Amino acid sequence: MNKFDYMAKYGYEQLIYFYDKETGLKGITCIHDTTLGPALGGTRLWNYASEEEAVEDALRLARGMTYKNAVAGLNLGGGKTVLIGDPEKVKSEAYWRAFGRYVQSLNGRYITAEDVNTNTDDMDYIAMETSNITGLKKTSGDPSPFTASGVYWGMRASCLEMYGSDELKDKKVLVQGIGQVGYNLVKFLVQDGAKVFVTDIKKAKLDRIASDFPVTIIPPEDIFKDNYDIFAPCALGAIINDETIPQFKFKIICGAANNVLKEERHGIALQNLGILYAPDYVVNAGGVINVYQEILGYDSEEAKRKVKKIYNKVLEIFKIAKEKEITPAQAANHLAEERIRVIRNIRSNYIVRK
Ligand code: NAD
Repeated sequence: MNKFDYMAKYGYEQLIYFYDKETGLKGITCIHDTTLGPALGGTRLWNYASEEEAVEDALRLARGMTYKNAVAGLNLGGGKTVLIGDPEKVKSEAYWRAFGRYVQSLNGRYITAEDVNTNTDDMDYIAMETSNITGLKKTSGDPSPFTASGVYWGMRASCLEMYGSDELKDKKVLVQGIGQVGYNLVKFLVQDGAKVFVTDIKKAKLDRIASDFPVTIIPPEDIFKDNYDIFAPCALGAIINDETIPQFKFKIICGAANNVLKEERHGIALQNLGILYAPDYVVNAGGVINVYQEILGYDSEEAKRKVKKIYNKVLEIFKIAKEKEITPAQAANHLAEERIRVIRNIRSNYIVRK
Protein backbone atom coordinates (compact mmCIF):
# COMPACT_ATOMS: atom_id res chain seq x y z
CA MET A 1 0.00 0.00 0.00
CA ASN A 2 1.26 3.48 -0.83
CA LYS A 3 0.33 5.23 2.40
CA PHE A 4 0.31 8.79 1.09
CA ASP A 5 -1.93 7.80 -1.83
CA TYR A 6 -4.31 6.10 0.60
CA MET A 7 -4.23 9.10 2.95
CA ALA A 8 -4.94 11.44 0.05
CA LYS A 9 -7.82 9.31 -1.21
CA TYR A 10 -9.66 9.31 2.14
CA GLY A 11 -8.51 12.63 3.57
CA TYR A 12 -6.29 11.48 6.44
CA GLU A 13 -4.40 14.04 8.52
CA GLN A 14 -1.67 12.15 10.37
CA LEU A 15 -0.08 8.74 10.81
CA ILE A 16 2.35 8.51 13.72
CA TYR A 17 4.79 5.73 14.65
CA PHE A 18 6.14 5.54 18.19
CA TYR A 19 8.60 3.24 19.95
CA ASP A 20 10.00 2.95 23.46
CA LYS A 21 13.22 1.00 23.85
CA GLU A 22 12.89 0.41 27.59
CA THR A 23 9.46 -1.27 27.49
CA GLY A 24 9.33 -2.50 23.90
CA LEU A 25 6.26 -0.36 23.25
CA LYS A 26 5.58 -0.30 19.50
CA GLY A 27 2.58 1.47 18.10
CA ILE A 28 0.85 3.57 15.51
CA THR A 29 -1.67 6.34 16.05
CA CYS A 30 -3.76 7.46 13.13
CA ILE A 31 -5.69 10.71 13.11
CA HIS A 32 -8.18 10.73 10.27
CA ASP A 33 -10.12 13.99 10.54
CA THR A 34 -10.32 16.62 13.28
CA THR A 35 -12.81 19.02 11.71
CA LEU A 36 -15.36 18.41 14.45
CA GLY A 37 -12.94 18.17 17.37
CA PRO A 38 -10.08 16.11 18.79
CA ALA A 39 -9.77 12.65 17.32
CA LEU A 40 -11.18 10.09 19.76
CA GLY A 41 -10.77 6.37 19.34
CA GLY A 42 -9.65 3.48 21.50
CA THR A 43 -6.30 1.74 21.75
CA ARG A 44 -6.17 -1.80 20.37
CA LEU A 45 -3.42 -4.19 21.44
CA TRP A 46 -2.93 -6.99 18.95
CA ASN A 47 -0.23 -9.41 17.90
CA TYR A 48 -0.26 -8.24 14.27
CA ALA A 49 1.43 -10.55 11.79
CA SER A 50 3.15 -7.58 10.16
CA GLU A 51 3.69 -3.85 10.50
CA GLU A 52 1.72 -3.38 7.28
CA GLU A 53 -1.31 -5.13 8.78
CA ALA A 54 -1.15 -2.89 11.85
CA VAL A 55 -0.98 0.28 9.73
CA GLU A 56 -3.94 -0.84 7.62
CA ASP A 57 -5.96 -1.55 10.75
CA ALA A 58 -5.11 1.86 12.25
CA LEU A 59 -6.09 3.66 9.04
CA ARG A 60 -9.37 1.77 8.63
CA LEU A 61 -10.41 2.05 12.28
CA ALA A 62 -9.54 5.77 12.55
CA ARG A 63 -11.70 6.62 9.55
CA GLY A 64 -14.53 4.53 10.98
CA MET A 65 -14.36 6.62 14.17
CA THR A 66 -14.69 9.85 12.19
CA TYR A 67 -17.97 8.61 10.72
CA LYS A 68 -19.27 7.18 13.99
CA ASN A 69 -18.51 10.34 15.98
CA ALA A 70 -19.91 12.61 13.26
CA VAL A 71 -23.26 10.79 12.96
CA ALA A 72 -23.57 10.56 16.75
CA GLY A 73 -23.48 14.38 16.81
CA LEU A 74 -20.32 14.50 18.93
CA ASN A 75 -17.76 17.25 18.63
CA LEU A 76 -15.05 14.70 18.01
CA GLY A 77 -12.94 13.68 15.08
CA GLY A 78 -11.79 10.16 14.34
CA GLY A 79 -8.60 8.46 15.41
CA LYS A 80 -7.27 5.15 16.63
CA THR A 81 -4.14 3.63 18.12
CA VAL A 82 -2.91 0.13 17.45
CA LEU A 83 -0.16 -1.37 19.59
CA ILE A 84 1.83 -4.27 18.20
CA GLY A 85 2.45 -6.99 20.78
CA ASP A 86 1.20 -10.05 22.58
CA PRO A 87 -1.45 -8.94 25.12
CA GLU A 88 -0.37 -11.78 27.44
CA LYS A 89 3.27 -10.60 27.52
CA VAL A 90 3.78 -6.88 26.96
CA LYS A 91 1.56 -5.22 29.56
CA SER A 92 3.23 -3.52 32.54
CA GLU A 93 2.98 -0.23 34.40
CA ALA A 94 6.00 1.14 32.51
CA TYR A 95 4.58 0.04 29.13
CA TRP A 96 1.32 1.88 29.65
CA ARG A 97 2.96 4.96 31.12
CA ALA A 98 5.36 5.12 28.17
CA PHE A 99 2.32 5.00 25.90
CA GLY A 100 0.58 7.69 27.99
CA ARG A 101 3.52 10.00 27.36
CA TYR A 102 3.15 9.59 23.59
CA VAL A 103 -0.56 10.36 23.84
CA GLN A 104 0.28 13.50 25.83
CA SER A 105 2.85 14.55 23.22
CA LEU A 106 0.03 14.83 20.68
CA ASN A 107 -1.17 17.79 22.71
CA GLY A 108 -4.88 16.92 22.72
CA ARG A 109 -5.25 16.17 19.02
CA TYR A 110 -5.91 12.55 19.98
CA ILE A 111 -7.88 11.17 22.96
CA THR A 112 -7.66 7.50 23.79
CA ALA A 113 -9.96 4.92 25.43
CA GLU A 114 -10.31 1.11 25.73
CA ASP A 115 -10.58 -1.21 22.78
CA VAL A 116 -9.73 -4.85 22.03
CA ASN A 117 -7.31 -6.21 24.70
CA THR A 118 -7.14 -2.98 26.70
CA ASN A 119 -9.12 -2.39 29.87
CA THR A 120 -9.82 0.15 32.60
CA ASP A 121 -6.76 -1.01 34.63
CA ASP A 122 -4.53 -0.20 31.64
CA MET A 123 -6.28 3.16 31.24
CA ASP A 124 -5.48 4.02 34.86
CA TYR A 125 -1.74 3.68 34.12
CA ILE A 126 -2.02 5.66 30.88
CA ALA A 127 -3.86 8.40 32.77
CA MET A 128 -0.81 8.85 35.03
CA GLU A 129 0.97 10.42 32.05
CA THR A 130 -1.78 12.04 30.00
CA SER A 131 -5.01 13.93 30.49
CA ASN A 132 -6.17 12.99 26.99
CA ILE A 133 -7.93 9.81 27.99
CA THR A 134 -11.50 8.61 28.62
CA GLY A 135 -13.17 5.40 29.78
CA LEU A 136 -11.71 5.52 33.28
CA LYS A 137 -13.09 3.38 36.10
CA LYS A 138 -13.77 6.37 38.31
CA THR A 139 -15.98 8.06 35.70
CA SER A 140 -17.80 6.45 32.78
CA GLY A 141 -16.52 2.87 33.32
CA ASP A 142 -17.71 -0.02 31.16
CA PRO A 143 -19.29 1.31 27.93
CA SER A 144 -21.10 -1.94 27.02
CA PRO A 145 -24.46 -1.27 28.74
CA PHE A 146 -24.61 2.06 26.86
CA THR A 147 -23.73 0.38 23.58
CA ALA A 148 -26.46 -2.19 24.21
CA SER A 149 -28.94 0.57 24.98
CA GLY A 150 -28.16 2.28 21.66
CA VAL A 151 -28.69 -0.98 19.78
CA TYR A 152 -32.02 -1.42 21.59
CA TRP A 153 -33.18 2.05 20.52
CA GLY A 154 -31.98 1.38 16.98
CA MET A 155 -34.04 -1.81 16.96
CA ARG A 156 -37.17 -0.03 18.09
CA ALA A 157 -36.72 2.58 15.37
CA SER A 158 -36.21 -0.22 12.83
CA CYS A 159 -39.44 -1.90 13.97
CA LEU A 160 -41.30 1.37 13.53
CA GLU A 161 -39.98 1.59 9.99
CA MET A 162 -40.69 -2.06 9.13
CA TYR A 163 -43.92 -2.76 11.03
CA GLY A 164 -45.40 0.68 11.79
CA SER A 165 -44.97 0.11 15.56
CA ASP A 166 -41.80 0.31 17.60
CA GLU A 167 -42.89 -2.32 20.12
CA LEU A 168 -40.61 -5.30 20.59
CA LYS A 169 -43.22 -7.40 22.40
CA ASP A 170 -43.48 -10.86 20.82
CA LYS A 171 -40.86 -10.02 18.17
CA LYS A 172 -38.50 -12.94 17.51
CA VAL A 173 -34.98 -11.62 18.02
CA LEU A 174 -31.80 -13.63 17.44
CA VAL A 175 -28.73 -12.27 19.25
CA GLN A 176 -25.39 -13.57 17.95
CA GLY A 177 -22.65 -13.21 20.59
CA ILE A 178 -23.56 -12.99 24.26
CA GLY A 179 -20.53 -11.00 25.37
CA GLN A 180 -20.47 -7.64 27.13
CA VAL A 181 -22.93 -6.01 24.73
CA GLY A 182 -25.04 -9.05 23.83
CA TYR A 183 -25.78 -9.84 27.47
CA ASN A 184 -26.98 -6.31 28.22
CA LEU A 185 -29.01 -6.24 25.02
CA VAL A 186 -30.84 -9.44 25.99
CA LYS A 187 -31.76 -7.78 29.28
CA PHE A 188 -33.51 -4.92 27.43
CA LEU A 189 -35.24 -7.29 25.01
CA VAL A 190 -36.59 -9.55 27.74
CA GLN A 191 -37.88 -6.51 29.64
CA ASP A 192 -39.90 -5.53 26.56
CA GLY A 193 -41.40 -9.01 26.10
CA ALA A 194 -39.48 -10.00 22.96
CA LYS A 195 -38.99 -13.70 22.20
CA VAL A 196 -35.22 -13.93 22.54
CA PHE A 197 -32.98 -16.51 20.84
CA VAL A 198 -29.25 -16.53 21.55
CA THR A 199 -26.14 -18.08 20.07
CA ASP A 200 -22.47 -18.05 21.08
CA ILE A 201 -19.42 -20.23 20.55
CA LYS A 202 -18.68 -20.25 24.28
CA LYS A 203 -20.80 -22.57 26.40
CA ALA A 204 -20.16 -20.59 29.59
CA LYS A 205 -21.79 -17.50 28.05
CA LEU A 206 -24.84 -19.48 27.03
CA ASP A 207 -25.14 -21.14 30.44
CA ARG A 208 -25.01 -17.78 32.16
CA ILE A 209 -27.63 -16.11 29.97
CA ALA A 210 -29.96 -19.13 30.14
CA SER A 211 -29.84 -19.07 33.94
CA ASP A 212 -30.51 -15.32 34.08
CA PHE A 213 -33.20 -14.87 31.41
CA PRO A 214 -35.92 -16.82 29.56
CA VAL A 215 -34.07 -17.36 26.25
CA THR A 216 -33.83 -20.14 23.67
CA ILE A 217 -30.32 -21.30 22.77
CA ILE A 218 -29.55 -21.85 19.08
CA PRO A 219 -26.33 -23.65 18.05
CA PRO A 220 -24.10 -21.35 15.92
CA GLU A 221 -24.44 -23.62 12.88
CA ASP A 222 -28.28 -23.37 13.00
CA ILE A 223 -28.74 -19.63 13.06
CA PHE A 224 -30.01 -19.42 9.50
CA LYS A 225 -32.52 -22.26 9.78
CA ASP A 226 -35.54 -20.37 11.12
CA ASN A 227 -37.34 -17.10 10.52
CA TYR A 228 -36.70 -14.19 12.89
CA ASP A 229 -37.99 -10.63 12.90
CA ILE A 230 -34.61 -9.25 13.96
CA PHE A 231 -31.03 -10.46 13.74
CA ALA A 232 -28.63 -8.72 16.14
CA PRO A 233 -24.99 -9.49 15.25
CA CYS A 234 -23.00 -8.77 18.43
CA ALA A 235 -19.94 -10.91 17.76
CA LEU A 236 -18.11 -10.62 14.46
CA GLY A 237 -17.62 -8.29 11.54
CA ALA A 238 -18.31 -9.21 7.89
CA ILE A 239 -21.21 -11.50 8.83
CA ILE A 240 -23.25 -10.04 5.95
CA ASN A 241 -21.57 -11.51 2.89
CA ASP A 242 -22.13 -13.51 -0.31
CA GLU A 243 -22.42 -16.80 1.56
CA THR A 244 -24.75 -15.71 4.37
CA ILE A 245 -27.16 -13.37 2.57
CA PRO A 246 -28.96 -16.10 0.57
CA GLN A 247 -29.65 -17.90 3.88
CA PHE A 248 -31.14 -14.87 5.66
CA LYS A 249 -34.75 -15.13 6.83
CA PHE A 250 -34.71 -11.89 8.81
CA LYS A 251 -36.75 -8.71 8.38
CA ILE A 252 -34.34 -6.43 10.25
CA ILE A 253 -30.61 -6.49 11.01
CA CYS A 254 -29.52 -4.34 13.93
CA GLY A 255 -26.57 -5.20 16.17
CA ALA A 256 -23.40 -3.96 17.85
CA ALA A 257 -20.68 -5.67 15.82
CA ASN A 258 -18.54 -3.31 13.72
CA ASN A 259 -18.17 -3.60 9.95
CA VAL A 260 -20.87 -6.25 9.57
CA LEU A 261 -21.28 -5.56 5.85
CA LYS A 262 -18.35 -7.32 4.22
CA GLU A 263 -18.53 -4.86 1.34
CA GLU A 264 -20.77 -1.90 0.53
CA ARG A 265 -22.53 -3.92 -2.18
CA HIS A 266 -23.84 -6.29 0.50
CA GLY A 267 -25.96 -3.43 1.81
CA ILE A 268 -27.50 -3.15 -1.65
CA ALA A 269 -28.15 -6.91 -1.67
CA LEU A 270 -30.04 -6.63 1.63
CA GLN A 271 -32.10 -3.75 0.27
CA ASN A 272 -33.03 -5.79 -2.80
CA LEU A 273 -34.27 -8.58 -0.53
CA GLY A 274 -36.39 -6.15 1.50
CA ILE A 275 -34.25 -6.63 4.64
CA LEU A 276 -33.94 -3.45 6.67
CA TYR A 277 -30.38 -2.79 7.83
CA ALA A 278 -29.72 -0.35 10.70
CA PRO A 279 -26.11 0.80 10.10
CA ASP A 280 -23.69 -0.72 12.64
CA TYR A 281 -21.72 2.37 13.54
CA VAL A 282 -24.89 4.38 14.12
CA VAL A 283 -26.57 1.91 16.48
CA ASN A 284 -23.37 0.92 18.32
CA ALA A 285 -22.36 4.52 19.15
CA GLY A 286 -23.73 4.34 22.73
CA GLY A 287 -20.28 3.53 24.12
CA VAL A 288 -18.56 6.52 22.54
CA ILE A 289 -21.48 8.80 23.43
CA ASN A 290 -20.94 7.71 27.03
CA VAL A 291 -17.18 8.35 27.04
CA TYR A 292 -17.67 11.73 25.35
CA GLN A 293 -19.81 12.68 28.33
CA GLU A 294 -16.65 12.22 30.39
CA ILE A 295 -15.04 15.09 28.49
CA LEU A 296 -18.10 17.32 29.07
CA GLY A 297 -18.39 16.40 32.76
CA TYR A 298 -19.62 12.90 33.49
CA ASP A 299 -23.31 12.39 34.22
CA SER A 300 -24.70 8.93 33.47
CA GLU A 301 -28.32 10.15 33.16
CA GLU A 302 -27.25 12.71 30.56
CA ALA A 303 -25.30 9.98 28.72
CA LYS A 304 -28.42 7.74 28.70
CA ARG A 305 -30.54 10.60 27.35
CA LYS A 306 -28.08 11.14 24.51
CA VAL A 307 -27.85 7.44 23.69
CA LYS A 308 -31.65 7.36 23.31
CA LYS A 309 -31.29 9.88 20.48
CA ILE A 310 -30.01 6.99 18.36
CA TYR A 311 -33.70 6.19 17.85
CA ASN A 312 -34.35 9.42 15.92
CA LYS A 313 -31.00 9.23 14.16
CA VAL A 314 -31.84 5.81 12.74
CA LEU A 315 -35.25 7.08 11.54
CA GLU A 316 -33.53 10.06 9.91
CA ILE A 317 -31.14 7.69 8.11
CA PHE A 318 -34.00 5.54 6.80
CA LYS A 319 -35.70 8.72 5.56
CA ILE A 320 -32.58 9.93 3.74
CA ALA A 321 -32.12 6.46 2.23
CA LYS A 322 -35.65 6.53 0.80
CA GLU A 323 -35.42 10.09 -0.48
CA LYS A 324 -32.08 9.55 -2.18
CA GLU A 325 -32.80 5.95 -3.21
CA ILE A 326 -29.67 4.69 -1.49
CA THR A 327 -29.07 2.12 1.25
CA PRO A 328 -29.18 3.03 4.96
CA ALA A 329 -25.41 2.41 5.14
CA GLN A 330 -24.83 4.90 2.33
CA ALA A 331 -27.27 7.33 3.96
CA ALA A 332 -25.32 7.16 7.24
CA ASN A 333 -22.07 7.95 5.40
CA HIS A 334 -23.81 10.83 3.65
CA LEU A 335 -25.01 12.22 6.98
CA ALA A 336 -21.49 12.04 8.46
CA GLU A 337 -19.86 13.66 5.44
CA GLU A 338 -22.49 16.42 5.30
CA ARG A 339 -22.08 17.27 8.99
CA ILE A 340 -18.30 17.53 8.61
CA ARG A 341 -18.62 19.61 5.43
CA VAL A 342 -21.13 22.06 6.91
CA ILE A 343 -19.26 22.52 10.20
CA ARG A 344 -15.99 23.04 8.32
CA ASN A 345 -17.66 25.80 6.31
CA ILE A 346 -19.38 27.59 9.18
CA ARG A 347 -16.01 27.77 10.91
CA SER A 348 -14.35 29.45 7.98
CA ASN A 349 -14.87 33.01 9.28
CA TYR A 350 -12.66 34.62 11.91
CA ILE A 351 -14.31 35.19 15.29
CA VAL A 352 -12.76 36.21 18.59
CA ARG A 353 -13.82 33.97 21.48
CA LYS A 354 -12.53 34.43 25.01
P1 NAD B 1 -17.22 -9.58 23.60
O1 NAD B 1 -15.90 -10.11 23.20
O2 NAD B 1 -17.51 -9.35 25.05
O3 NAD B 1 -18.37 -10.56 23.05
C1 NAD B 1 -18.36 -11.17 21.81
C2 NAD B 1 -19.04 -12.53 21.97
O4 NAD B 1 -19.19 -13.10 20.68
C3 NAD B 1 -18.27 -13.53 22.83
O5 NAD B 1 -19.11 -14.07 23.82
C4 NAD B 1 -17.83 -14.59 21.81
O6 NAD B 1 -17.75 -15.89 22.36
C5 NAD B 1 -18.93 -14.50 20.78
N1 NAD B 1 -18.60 -15.02 19.46
C6 NAD B 1 -17.44 -14.91 18.78
N2 NAD B 1 -17.54 -15.55 17.59
C7 NAD B 1 -18.81 -16.04 17.51
C8 NAD B 1 -19.54 -16.77 16.54
N3 NAD B 1 -18.98 -17.14 15.39
N4 NAD B 1 -20.83 -17.08 16.79
C9 NAD B 1 -21.40 -16.72 17.95
N5 NAD B 1 -20.76 -16.02 18.92
C10 NAD B 1 -19.48 -15.70 18.70
O7 NAD B 1 -17.43 -8.25 22.76
P2 NAD B 1 -18.46 -7.05 23.05
O8 NAD B 1 -17.76 -5.99 23.82
O9 NAD B 1 -19.75 -7.60 23.55
O10 NAD B 1 -18.67 -6.49 21.58
C11 NAD B 1 -19.45 -7.18 20.63
C12 NAD B 1 -19.28 -6.53 19.27
O11 NAD B 1 -19.72 -5.18 19.32
C13 NAD B 1 -17.82 -6.48 18.79
O12 NAD B 1 -17.81 -6.63 17.40
C14 NAD B 1 -17.38 -5.07 19.14
O13 NAD B 1 -16.37 -4.59 18.29
C15 NAD B 1 -18.67 -4.30 18.93
N6 NAD B 1 -18.76 -3.08 19.75
C16 NAD B 1 -18.66 -3.15 21.12
C17 NAD B 1 -18.77 -2.00 21.86
C18 NAD B 1 -18.71 -2.05 23.38
O14 NAD B 1 -19.10 -1.07 24.03
N7 NAD B 1 -18.28 -3.16 23.98
C19 NAD B 1 -18.96 -0.76 21.24
C20 NAD B 1 -19.07 -0.70 19.84
C21 NAD B 1 -18.97 -1.88 19.11
